[in-house]
Amino acid sequence: MPEPILIAVAWPYANAEIHVGNLTGSYLPADIVARYHRLRGRQVLMVSGSDAHGTPITVRADAENSSALEVYQRFHTTFLELFQQLGLTYDLFTSTHTTNHFNVSQKMFLALKQNGYMYQDRQLQWYSPVQKRFLPDRYVEGACYICGYTNARSDQCDRCGNLLDPTLLIDPRSKIDGSRPELRETEHFFLDLARLQEQVEDFLRLRQSYWRPNVLRQSLGQMQAEPLRGRPITRDLDWGIPVPLEGWNGKCLYVWFEAVIGYLSATIEWGLINGQPDAWRTWWHNSDAKAFYFIGKDNIPFHAIIWPAELIGAGKTFDELMEFSNPEPMVLPYDVPANEFMNLEGQKISGSRNWAVWGHDFLSRYDPDSLRYYLTVSMPETRDSDWDWNDFLHRNNDELVATWGNLANRVLSFAFKNFDGKVPDPGELTELDKELLVTVEDGFQSVAQEMEAVHLRAALVEAMSLATEVNKYLDITAPWQAIKTDRQAAGRAIYTAIRAIDSLKIMLAPFLPFTSEKLHTFLGYDQPLFGTQSTEVVTDLLAQHTVLRYHPEGASGRWEPGQIQAGRVLRQPGPLFRKLEPKIVEEERARLGQK
Ligand SMILES: [Zn+2]
Repeated sequence: MPEPILIAVAWPYANAEIHVGNLTGSYLPADIVARYHRLRGRQVLMVSGSDAHGTPITVRADAENSSALEVYQRFHTTFLELFQQLGLTYDLFTSTHTTNHFNVSQKMFLALKQNGYMYQDRQLQWYSPVQKRFLPDRYVEGACYICGYTNARSDQCDRCGNLLDPTLLIDPRSKIDGSRPELRETEHFFLDLARLQEQVEDFLRLRQSYWRPNVLRQSLGQMQAEPLRGRPITRDLDWGIPVPLEGWNGKCLYVWFEAVIGYLSATIEWGLINGQPDAWRTWWHNSDAKAFYFIGKDNIPFHAIIWPAELIGAGKTFDELMEFSNPEPMVLPYDVPANEFMNLEGQKISGSRNWAVWGHDFLSRYDPDSLRYYLTVSMPETRDSDWDWNDFLHRNNDELVATWGNLANRVLSFAFKNFDGKVPDPGELTELDKELLVTVEDGFQSVAQEMEAVHLRAALVEAMSLATEVNKYLDITAPWQAIKTDRQAAGRAIYTAIRAIDSLKIMLAPFLPFTSEKLHTFLGYDQPLFGTQSTEVVTDLLAQHTVLRYHPEGASGRWEPGQIQAGRVLRQPGPLFRKLEPKIVEEERARLGQK
C-alpha cells in the first residue's frame, strides 16, 4: 500500500479576508507538499476548513448588525473562491460549524474527561447585569492597568501591547452597550496539561532531530522552561459547540480546543461524503501514516503541544465513544513545519490599515502561478520575509519568464515550426546531450530530498537551476543557428531540450500547477497531471455548508523522468507567463494603506 500522507492545514478564521502572509504562511506550502506526494503516488489527504466559532466572529457580527452564522458563511464563500483560483487542492475544505464536527469535538471532550485529563474550577469573569450574561474578554474595554490607555481591550492593550489579566482592568465597560460589568465567579472545565507533560515531552523528543528549530523552541523548549498548566477549555458563550453535559447550558467549548479537532473531524467527514465511513483510519490508525501540519508561527503551541496532548489524552476512548470497532490510539503529528511571518514593504501586514496584498485583489490583476512562484521564493521558512513589489517584478520577469517560460516557449515554438509540429528524431545522442539529461533527471532525487524535508524554497531553487542548465546547453548547441547548416544537429538539440523540459515540468508542477498543465498539453499529452476541484453543498442537522473537494480521478502526473518520444505530435504552444511592466511597482505601492 502506498504511504498515507495527511496534509493538515491551518483553519482560517471566517472573519477576515486572506492576504499573502496567510497564503505563504500555511495554505500554499501545504498545497505544494500535497501535490508533490500525489505525484509520488502516495495516499494524500489534504484537509482544513473555516474556523466558524469564537468571539472575533461574534464581535464582527454585532458591529455589522448581522449574525455570526451570516458572517462565517460570507467569508467561507470567499475562501472557497480564492482557493480554487489559486489551485489549493484540498481534498476537503469544510467548516467547524457542522453536525459532524460538533459530534467529534464533543466526543473528544468526553474522552478526555473520562480518562481523567480534565478538572473543574472557578474563575472570575466580567458579567453584564444589564444583559444578564457573561461577557467574553473581547467584549470588555477599559483602562490599561499598565500604561493607563483608556481604550484597552480587557485581554490586551493596543497601546503598550501587553497581554492583560482581564480581571484587573480599570473602569470596565461593555462594548455592546457601554454599561459597567461586574466580576462574578463562573465554573469551567480545564484541560489538565500538567498530567500530560511527560507524554508530550516524549512525543517531541522523538521528533527533535528533524523539526524546525523555531518550532522546537516554542514547544519542547518552552515546556521545559515552564511546565504546562491547566487551561480552561470551556467559556460562557452561545456561539459555538455546546458542552455535552447536563447543567452546562450557555457554555461552549473554547475555540482553541475544538478547532484543532477539525483535522480529525474533516477526515471523518471526507470519508462519509465518499460513502467510506472507515476511510479516516488510513491516516489516523496507521503506524505508516505521516501527518504534516502547516501553520504559522503564532499557532505553534496549539499544534505542537496542545493538539498532541488532546490526542494522547483521548487515546482509544474516543473510538469507543464514537462506537467505532477496533478502538486504537490516534496518529500523532509527524512534522509541524511552521513558517515565520511575511511582512510587506518592510512593515508588518495589517488588515485594518489595509497594509496588505489581498489574495482576491491580487488575482484580479495577475496570474496564480506568478503568485505561487513569488510566495515560494520568498517563503518565511526560517525567518520573517518581506513582500517587495520591486522584487516581485524582477522575480517574475527575470526568473519565471526569462529562465523558465521563455525556455519552454522558445524550444516548443521552434519544434512546432521547423519539425512539422513533432518532437524531432535525434539520431544518436552526443555526450553533451546525455550529460544534460542525466543532470536534469538527477533532479528527481535532489528536488525530492528538499521536498521531503519541507524545504520548499530550496526545492524550487534547485529545479530552477536545472532550467538554467538547459538554457546553457542551448547556448552551446544553438539549434536556431544549426538549423541552417545541420538539420540533424538542430533536431538532436531540440529533442534533448524537450526531454529536459518534459521532466522539469513535473518537478515544477507542485509549485506552478496551472502553467505545468498548460505545458503538458503543448507537449501533446491528453491526460492531465492533476485532478480537478469542485464545490458541493452538504446539508446536515445544523445548517448547510459548502465544501471544496479535490477529485484525483484522471490525474496522470508521476514523479519520474519524462519519456517523451521522437515523432510525438505537439500542440500549438504559447507563452506560459506574462512579462510585467515596471510601472506596476509604483501603482501597487500607491494602493497600500488606502482604504
Ligand atoms: Zn497599556
